[in-house]
Formats: sequence, C-alpha cells, structure tokens
Amino acid sequence: MTRIAVLGSTNMDLVAYTARAPGRGETVTGREFRTVPGGKGANQAVAAARAGGEVAMIGAVGDDPYGAQLRDGLEHAGVDTDLLHTAEGPSGTAHIVVDDTGANSIVVIPGANGVVTALGPGEIAAIASAELLLMQLELPLSAVVEGARAARSQGVRTILTPSPVQPLPDELLDHIDLLVPNEHEAAELSGQAEPHAAAQILLRQVPEVIITLGAKGALYAARGGEPVLFEAPEVRAVDTTGAGDTFVGALAVALGEGRPVAKALAFASSAAALCVQRPGASTSMPYRTEIEADAV
Ligand code: ATP
Repeated sequence: MTRIAVLGSTNMDLVAYTARAPGRGETVTGREFRTVPGGKGANQAVAAARAGGEVAMIGAVGDDPYGAQLRDGLEHAGVDTDLLHTAEGPSGTAHIVVDDTGANSIVVIPGANGVVTALGPGEIAAIASAELLLMQLELPLSAVVEGARAARSQGVRTILTPSPVQPLPDELLDHIDLLVPNEHEAAELSGQAEPHAAAQILLRQVPEVIITLGAKGALYAARGGEPVLFEAPEVRAVDTTGAGDTFVGALAVALGEGRPVAKALAFASSAAALCVQRPGASTSMPYRTEIEADAV
C-alpha cells in the first residue's frame, strides 16, 4: 500500500442553497442548508484512502462539535488521524452560498487550520516514513514550507496543489517535485493563459507539472519533454466539486505504486470522472474497486 502523508486543511462546509444570493445588506430566504465535511487537505486524504492508499492526515481541528465530526469522518474513510491535533477554539469553516445557477460565493474562516504554523517531531517523522507528501495552501505557508523541506530531505516525493492560489516563494517551490494547479491557478502563477505556455513557465521552478483542465482532461509536462494532453473520459457531470482533490488523491496512490505517469493519469482521470457524476465532494469520491473497473 502506498503510504501517503497529507499536510493540509480540514473544514466544515456550511452550505446554503438559495434561488438568488443576497446583495450587500440584503437578507433572502434560502431553500436548504447542509453541513459537509471538507477542506482541501481532508478531501485529498479521503480520496487517497478510498483509492487504496494508507493515509495519515497532519493538521488541526477545533475543540467544537465540528472538530469531532470532521475527525470521525476522516477515520470512517480509513484515514489515520493521530496527527490531526485538536486546537482550542473553532474548527475551520467554509460558508458557502449556492444559487440556482450553480454559482457560489464562499467565505473561508481558517479557525484551527490557522494554528498549524510549525511542525513537531511526530509530524516530521510521519512525513519521513511516507512515500509521498500531499500539500495545498489552506494552512499557514510556514508549515507547508517546513513540511516540503522535511519531505525532500528524506527523499519523500512532494506534490503541491497551489490552492487558494497565491505567489509561491522559492523556499517552497525548491522542495516541490510535482505541481498540480488547475487551469486558472496555472494562469495566475505563470502569467500565461494558454496551458502549454503556462506549463513551460512553471517548469522553470519545478521538475513536473500537471495542469488539470476540467472536462478537457489534464496536461502533463516534465522538464526536457513535450507536454502531453491526457483527455478526460466523456461523462455526464452533475457536480464537479471535489474533482481536483479526487484527481490528486488517486494520482498519488498510483504514482506511489510505481505506475508509469500515463497509467497513473488514467487512474486519476477515472477517479475524477466518477466523482463528477455524483453530487457532493468527499461523499462522491470513488473507491479503488470502482476506479479499477473503470480505468483503462
Ligand atoms: P474542483 O475545484 O471542482 O474540485 P479543480 O478546478 O481543482 O476542480 P478541474 O480541472 O476542474 O479541477 O478537474 C480536475 C480533474 O477532474 C480534471 O483534470 C478531469 O480529470 C476531471 N474532471 C473535471 N470535470 C470533469 C468532467 N466534466 N468530465 C470528466 N472529468 C472531469
């Protein structure tokens, strides 16, 4: 089994569904409310565990009821939460308003995620004993940099999802093996809207890049080679939430198993295509048997 450490966020998504989002100073009556476990770190951890990885989650939840629910959800998915600390105060929350066009507006309050500014010996040891480390940018940058550096110094492969997108310091990029932005993040980080051009710029800083392109698939590029487009399976998408995290979690498992890049991308694409055909984020992430049945 691929051993994967995830250094990242855990949030409770508080989702309000309404015909029309309120304007400034306005109150509207919505239709439905749901609490959904989320956070990019936790989502990638669940995706990787379901895809067949042995996953340890590094981060923090609050000492509120959401914290206990978030921990339970991860454990239920088979994720090891020994290094998911319980911090004093609220868990991270994402306040999401979804209107009838499917458009959303989101306020994220980091809560406990914000206290993860540095790593302790237990976290460093867990990273060192993993084959891959998955990171995103919903924890304080200081912790992400420390994790990436610790991983690299132990020969652990590092994968970064640069979301929410922000300028990335060299002290982080110097320790990243594979960067996985979506199309918008790639454009923002490189200053190039066209994915091939964006990939060439990003390869100046990291050895491998995969730009995910939604229904169009994913563009893989490595230093010294031509970028290759891997098309996504044609499916009827009902909800693309969590597609990117499903893709990365499954990709990590396949790479850790030593599959060649093309096979690992096929596995990740199948996983993400299954995810988009079902509603929800973590709830829609597929299990290994489903992915295997689908992957070519
Ligand atoms: P999200 O924020 O919705 O989780 P993202 O913006 O991080 O997603 P995308 O590039 O939209 O990432 O999607 C990630 C991967 O999911 C794609 O590379 C593709 O493999 C798969 N995918 C997304 N949308 C579709 C779709 N409509 N049909 C098939 N596969 C899809």
